Amino acid sequence: MDYYKLLEQFLKEMTAETLDIKAVYAVLAELCKLYRISRGVTWFYDNPENEQLGIGDKFVCYDDGNASDNTLVTRYVTDVKTISTCTVYFSKDAEPLTQEEHDQVDLIQKAIISLVTRNRLKRTVDRMSYYDFEGYMNLRYYTREIERLNRQSELPGMVAIRYNLSHFSLVNSQIGRKAGDEVMKRYTGTMRLAAGEDGLVCRIGGDNFIMYCPAERYEAVLKVLKGVPIVYDDNSNERVRVASSAGVFFIPDNFEYHYFGDVMAKITTASEQARTGGGDSIVIYDEKTELGRDHIIKVQSVFGESLRRGEFKVFYQPKVSVTTGELMGAEALCRWFHDDRIISPDEFIPVLEMDLNICKLDFNMLDQVCRDIRRWLDEGKRVVRVSINLSRKHMADMDIKEHILEIVDRHNVPHEYIEIELTETTADVEFTYLKDVVNGLREVGICTSIDDFGIGYSSLNLLGEIPWDVLKVDKSFLPEDDEDKHSTHGIMFRHVLALANEIGMESVAEGVETERQVRILRANNCTLAQGYYFDRPMPVENFEERLDNYIYELPQ
Ligand code: C2E
Ligand code: CA
Ligand code: CA
Repeated sequence: MDYYKLLEQFLKEMTAETLDIKAVYAVLAELCKLYRISRGVTWFYDNPENEQLGIGDKFVCYDDGNASDNTLVTRYVTDVKTISTCTVYFSKDAEPLTQEEHDQVDLIQKAIISLVTRNRLKRTVDRMSYYDFEGYMNLRYYTREIERLNRQSELPGMVAIRYNLSHFSLVNSQIGRKAGDEVMKRYTGTMRLAAGEDGLVCRIGGDNFIMYCPAERYEAVLKVLKGVPIVYDDNSNERVRVASSAGVFFIPDNFEYHYFGDVMAKITTASEQARTGGGDSIVIYDEKTELGRDHIIKVQSVFGESLRRGEFKVFYQPKVSVTTGELMGAEALCRWFHDDRIISPDEFIPVLEMDLNICKLDFNMLDQVCRDIRRWLDEGKRVVRVSINLSRKHMADMDIKEHILEIVDRHNVPHEYIEIELTETTADVEFTYLKDVVNGLREVGICTSIDDFGIGYSSLNLLGEIPWDVLKVDKSFLPEDDEDKHSTHGIMFRHVLALANEIGMESVAEGVETERQVRILRANNCTLAQGYYFDRPMPVENFEERLDNYIYELPQ
């Protein structure tokens, strides 16, 4: 074949839609033979520094093993300072090139270089479109891989997950942006390990991620989602706990995939619901999740009007001394009177926590409670301390103490009658906020209790370092009736109560339903009990009667 034919063929191969590298090598070999070239090498460098250091991509297109020092080199620098070189070597005994041949080889070298450069740049651009600026794989990457799995019929058996790091803006403000970035990187690394080689973790912006992994890997992934300590400074070993809320979709065998949105919609719906669960929950997609979406929209749209109309009412649930049977306090729990039915908080609190509506509701509850207490005082009734639940969403409110005081003082209610229930926190960073809030309230004589202790991430840390007045042991922590007292459960329960006593905290057990539980509480010096055994939460009129007649009967 002659020069022109070969060159034409070479150009065709190099500009083909998909590069057939074997075909390229074949033409190059022909060309090399034609010009008595024994070796041809191209290099591509990302920048001049790398060229100097010899760090780049080498591409040997031909080698017959007879290369000598006799070379021709062409070098090309692009506008963005990438560099390509092409070197051809001649064998020792090769007949020298004529001037014409020399010019032709030069032209071939230039063609090779420009094509190598073009292909490399294209790949760099591709790379950039599949990764974000911080080097995380992005949504396009994820989409591409999901499409590939679908083509290979490998989607069933995979789990797709969309997750959001809980309270990550707080992590940033606490340890600084730079350390925050490091935390995110390392958490992602931990997640990748959990997802395994057949899994993928991509960032879709901010602290939002999407991933998939084989179903066998889900256990490991779940652990990371629920929270792991991440060291962000290797020298000091400083660490934060990072957890995520997530929407999970187990891709079933009969899954009908039409386009990527089929997967994305499911994990997005589930993850939105997960975020409403207080920021660290995991929601697994099923058909009900779709219904949930309608529910969310409905609650959000009527909330404002319902609050104005006074549809949210306080129910009081007594707290009883397990030694004397005296009614010693109450918890204010919200009930929603809407559409001729009473809606329980589990149906609307998570929705209100999606935005800051929950704060309006909580302050409204506090307002109602203060009004009731003021009235009881004015009527000369016996008054007990009432606890009000404050959502964790209030943690973002720097003036929370002032907001609480404004309401309590407006009703002229002595502070000792108010107790604020706060739930445990998952993120170490929230810890500081929580501590400030509790300390601030303590200064003005308002009690605080740590709610739902025992579920979630009860760090004993939280008990020791924050001056809570009351520990509320969650009902899941209570020994069941058929459980013997040597079970791990029972042992933990007793230890937690002992600890509370030790550090001078009052203890309240929630969800007390049986005689046996009351006896166990008494044996372990638990101060108060709250639960159906004594009373269910009730409207204010009923509760007022209890205030007047306040002794409950206790089991022997
Ligand atoms: P919580 O603070 O843990 O409240 C205790 C829940 O346990 C109440 O459910 C209560 O009715 C229930 N309970 C009481 N005794 C027993 C028992 O013996 N057995 C069983 N199985 N359950 C018992 P409720 O009223 O449905 O409230 C659910 C959750 O909703 C509350 O859990 C609290 O986290 C939240 N919540 C209720 N009202 C408010 C509010 O005004 N503001 C905020 N932020 N959250 C609220
Ligand atoms: Ca509570
Ligand atoms: Ca509770």
